[in-house]
Amino acid sequence: MIKTTVAGSLPKPSWLAEPEKLWAPWRLEGAGLVEGQRDAAMVWIKLQEDAGIDIVSDGEQFRKHFVHGFLEEVEGIDWHRMTTMGIRDNRYDAQVPTVTSAVRRKKSVHADGVKFCRENTSKQFKFTLPGPMTICDTIADAHYGSRPEMAMAFAALLNQEALELEALGVDVIQFDEPAFNAFMDQVPVWGVEALHRAIEGLKCKTAVHICYGYGIQQNIDWKESLGKEWLQYEQFFPALNESRIDQVSLECADSRVPLSVLGLLKDKEILVGAINVATDTIETPEKVAFTLRAAMEFVDPERIIACTNCGMAPLSRHVAEGKLKALAAGAALLRNELQ
Ligand code: ZN
Repeated sequence: MIKTTVAGSLPKPSWLAEPEKLWAPWRLEGAGLVEGQRDAAMVWIKLQEDAGIDIVSDGEQFRKHFVHGFLEEVEGIDWHRMTTMGIRDNRYDAQVPTVTSAVRRKKSVHADGVKFCRENTSKQFKFTLPGPMTICDTIADAHYGSRPEMAMAFAALLNQEALELEALGVDVIQFDEPAFNAFMDQVPVWGVEALHRAIEGLKCKTAVHICYGYGIQQNIDWKESLGKEWLQYEQFFPALNESRIDQVSLECADSRVPLSVLGLLKDKEILVGAINVATDTIETPEKVAFTLRAAMEFVDPERIIACTNCGMAPLSRHVAEGKLKALAAGAALLRNELQ
């Protein structure tokens, strides 16, 4: 009961990329880069295992950006035709590549990395991929003419990738959909359908991570504008609860998401974010247990997995390590209480 996992990314070691910076360029190249990424993944697997995390991840050591890392291996995208686009419903502008013809996977994107990780841990292993709606919100479209249609095209590619990763022994495949809370009304219309296409035929656990974004300034400002209670999730949790996705990951630590919204996800396992990734302060195990206990008011303990609010990529390695240990220790406190 009350297993532990991470939402996704973990900091890159300083020899691989500049620390405490999102999407920093690689410091290695060619074969050296592949070796560096593997070493980094091994370090984080070991640190997660030592901390007592049950379901470990590669910490996204094999990609620079959580969406573009996948898109780099997709045909039909013109990386020279960069478009400035307001993303997450115009929360901020980003330079994004453009879809100019039907998309197709050139090759398996993450199989090598996943195979390596699988060989190096006997723990349950989780891997994250960008969700179809979030991909569509992070790329310009000059071909499909309709977001739902483009989302289904990307979902088919994600499905090919996910089936390959499952065959390599991945236990949990998570799709990151931060765009869900920018386009709440579209989630029931086509967001869930695209996710269903992405998980078609999978027998491993499937998860979706929804979130209010990393602790970057644009997100902090946006969060300030949302008022005291963040009720966006009420709009689409009923549709998510009816979906075939097994797990939902969301931020609950120091968050203004009222935990009562968890009551709308009665048929899901909940990855309860009990680690705030927007601060360097390392939680005490008691604080982690406090957040998990608060979630228990709306979720049976059997359905709770203790997790981080979001990825920890922008944090220092020291802080991220401390937070991993606090997460595991906090979950252990609660497990003891419940026995
Ligand atoms: Zn997140």
